[in-house]
Parts: sequence; C-alpha cells; structure tokens
Amino acid sequence: MKSLKFVNLFLFFLISGLSSAQDKPVIKIPDILGYKTLKCDFHMHTVFSDGQVWPTVRIDEAWRDGLDAISITEHIEYRPNLKYFSNEKVIVSDHNIPYEIALENAKKKDVLIIKGAEITRAMPPGHCNALFLTDINLLDTQWEDDGTGKQGWMGSGLLINNWQEAFYEAKEQGAFIFWNHPGWKTQQPDTTLWWQEHTWLFENNLMDGIEVVNGNSYYPEAHQWAINKNLTMIAGSDAHGPIGGKKRPITLVFATERSVSSVKEALFDQRSAILSENKIIGDRKFLDAIFFGSITIESFIETSEGYQIVIQNSADISFELSKVDGNNENISIPDKIFIHARKSTTVEIAVAQPLSNSKIDLKFNVDNLFVGPNKGLPVTISFRIDGL
Ligand SMILES: [Zn+2]
Ligand SMILES: [Zn+2]
Repeated sequence: MKSLKFVNLFLFFLISGLSSAQDKPVIKIPDILGYKTLKCDFHMHTVFSDGQVWPTVRIDEAWRDGLDAISITEHIEYRPNLKYFSNEKVIVSDHNIPYEIALENAKKKDVLIIKGAEITRAMPPGHCNALFLTDINLLDTQWEDDGTGKQGWMGSGLLINNWQEAFYEAKEQGAFIFWNHPGWKTQQPDTTLWWQEHTWLFENNLMDGIEVVNGNSYYPEAHQWAINKNLTMIAGSDAHGPIGGKKRPITLVFATERSVSSVKEALFDQRSAILSENKIIGDRKFLDAIFFGSITIESFIETSEGYQIVIQNSADISFELSKVDGNNENISIPDKIFIHARKSTTVEIAVAQPLSNSKIDLKFNVDNLFVGPNKGLPVTISFRIDGL
C-alpha cells in the first residue's frame, strides 16, 4: 500500500510536470478595443526555398515563442536548396508542399497557419508576400514554355519578367499582399525609394500592407508610407535559419476571434501593430489602448514630500516615459520613468504647495511606443488625491 501511494505521488508529479511543459508560453500584451491581440509572424523560410529548417520546425518555434499564427513564405523564384532533393520533380512542381507538411503539426500545436509565399523579384518592385493563397503554384509566372516540355526552377523554360501576372494571380485568390523589407540594402543601397511600380501596385489594389520592421531592421520611410497611404503595418522575422533564443519581431493583429479568417479580416482593416524588441509601432488608438490596458495604479500614498505612486504593469513590455512640457509647475515629476514589464514600479512626485485641485494630471511621452517615425506616444496619467 505504501509503495502504491508512492507510485501515485510519483505519477502525479510526472503528470503535472508534463502538463506544465505543454502549456504554451504567453506573450502578455492586452486585448484591446474589444479585439483579441494575436501574435503573428507572416514571413519566414524553410529548406523549400533558401532556409535551413524543415517546415514543422517553424510550427514548434511558433509554439515556443507564444505565437498565434504564422505563414511560411518561400521564395517562389529562388529555391537553391531544391538541387539537394532527390525527388525534385514533385517538389519543384508544387509550391504548396511546405504548407502541407506543416499543417498537421500546426493543428496539433494549435498554431494557425496561413498559406503564403514570397514573390521574389528584382527591384522594382522587389519582394512581396502574399497571404491566404489557395494555390501558390499559379503565382509562379516567371517561366514561359519553350517547347521542351520542361518548365520551372530546374527546367529550361524561358525566363520572362512578368511580375505583374504574379500579383494579379495573388489578388485573384483573395490574397493580402505586403511589400517586404523596403529598405533592404541589397535592393535599395542608397536610399529607401518608393518606385512608380509601387504606385502601380498600390493604385491597382495589389499592395495592402508594408513591412515596417524586417528582422532587426526598422524602416522609418516605410513607417511614414504606411501612415500616409493607410497600409497595414507588418513585422516579419524573415527567418532563414533556426530561430534561437533571440526575440523575433511580431505583428500584433487585433482580431475578433482567434481564426485564420479573422486574421485576414483584421489585416485588410489595418488592425495591426508591431512588437519589436522593447518597442511597439502602430496607430495611436492601438498604442494608447495597449498602454492603458497594461498599467494599473496599485497604490497612491501621501508622503511628507508629496505622493508615492505604485504603478503595476501586467504586460511583457516595459514603458519608457519622458516628462513633457505642460505639467503643473507646482509638482515635481521625474524626467524619466521606466515602468518595468510584469512588475510594480514606484514613482515619487514632490509637491511644493498644497494642491488646490483634487485631480493630478501627469503628462509624459512614452518613448518606446511609436506613433510615427521615432515619435513617441503622448499620454496623460491622472490621479485623484481624494481617493483612487
Ligand atoms: Zn525577401
Ligand atoms: Zn523572405
């Protein structure tokens, strides 16, 4: 009996240990404005183009990184690894295979997978991702049959520069299309330019979004274009190798529910922001909601000098506040406040004269929430000194 108890206890620990190992990690960014905040990465590669991992690994990594949705977006026109596949005929002829390989693992791990691909052309227009495709093969428009019966990457078809056809086909399939790494030095060595081909794409409804962040590059020009032209802001890891310990940039999607169709609807409705390192980039209404949805005033105590305020931050992002002009001159506020992620932060404010008003407004700029190129989010944190 004794040994049985021991076994039961052992089993209990084993099971609880297993279940905690199977809990998906969570990136804490609050749900806002009635939407769910989904964490997504819509740009990555595998061995099926020029990446170094198998498609199922991308799902494992997404699960480990707490992501809700990903898209594997192989280069359609650049697949150097294919020469290593023995059954190249099957692989070469079907661009949908990476998605199909990843699908079962995605279901098992509860990661949403979106069928996508990277239209990989010279600049202009450069590289663009198309998401929510139904058949990627139809976007492989660069080869014309030369009568040899062979076409495609390994064949001897005739190479033609008809990139417009690939975009038309993507749109035909209802795709959401975004311009990748607009400031990539290999394609835009001197300045990040918007070419007339991009105007053509934009005016023909063939560009819905733009990568403002790719890997660890931030493109202020792309950020401004997104604002001016109402393009959805996207961040892509563009991972080719395994995603190790370093944090990838994430597209935050504000969706009505956690589903592929809801992600699609949100992207077409410009409901996104970018989480990159300790920054969030996006429209003011989203950043404002994230900031005030993350912090709560835990306590507010009168001291001999003034007041001690304890601010709790439940999110996985720290907030870097700078004092701005326009604050009550009677109140001395720290020039900088760092509100730590998932912690409480104590802020001391000194008051020179007893306050006549029962409400205190503290005005700051949140320097790491970008509402424009390198432009922080203005916020006012208000307190009532006659009670919270
Ligand atoms: Zn690319
Ligand atoms: Zn890429």
